[in-house]
Amino acid sequence: MNGFQNDKERIWKIRDYIQELEDIKEGINNFLKSRKKLDEVTKNLWISDVKDFYYNTVSAWEMLNSASKGKLKYLENSKNFLHLARGRLAKSISELKFYKEELVFNLVKEVEISFEKCWNAFYFEFEILTPSKKIIKPIARIIKVSDSEYYLPCSVCGKNSIEYKLGYGRFDELESLVYSGITHSRSLRKDLANELFEILKSEDLLGVHQFMQKFHSVEGLDAYCPKCDKIYCWEHYNAREEYDDGFYDCTCGECPNGHRRMIDD
Ligand SMILES: [Zn+2]
Ligand SMILES: [Zn+2]
Repeated sequence: MNGFQNDKERIWKIRDYIQELEDIKEGINNFLKSRKKLDEVTKNLWISDVKDFYYNTVSAWEMLNSASKGKLKYLENSKNFLHLARGRLAKSISELKFYKEELVFNLVKEVEISFEKCWNAFYFEFEILTPSKKIIKPIARIIKVSDSEYYLPCSVCGKNSIEYKLGYGRFDELESLVYSGITHSRSLRKDLANELFEILKSEDLLGVHQFMQKFHSVEGLDAYCPKCDKIYCWEHYNAREEYDDGFYDCTCGECPNGHRRMIDD
């Protein structure tokens, strides 16, 4: 009973951090409104980015609150919203840096510190709420679903991080080899499928990575850490989007063993 009460109180305390974020959000938006250097369209876009950041954090909290009442299916949504918020914040900060002013420097510092407190408080709850895995079953390196469909699960949590299948991507007119990774999806030529499926059958992750480097991009398989020779999901690769003046630049990952690399450009 007491434990439950404490959990509830702790989760409500996160609202205080969110209140702090709301105040900073208002501060940033007032600052943006007061500056004449930008055209209205850009200004409104930047203001909505700051709002997006804030409301994604609020949604993360609402999902966490539901998860804490036993609806564990919301735990994953809470994490997704929190990661979305972090991406939006990175975008907003890259936009704010357009102004080389002391005031901006302070606002950025303030919002970074405040969000980090929030992030840590969320992760504290995620750790508590994540059901401990009772069955210690080794996670497969590669899951064969059928002759034309394969999954690559995260080596930490087992969540499917990469999917390959023969089929139709969103804009495909022809059947393709559809790749869905942790940062993006892409349709590759269908005639490459046999070569790839042979590599997948031999559970050669490095081989899959090299295949992607050859036929897709130099970053290769986005969920793959070459130094560990392992697959990580978005969360366990600690993937972070980076922005330049509000435009998407790249995504960097840092695996649980501290190996960093660019996973999407
Ligand atoms: Zn994972
Ligand atoms: Zn690694």
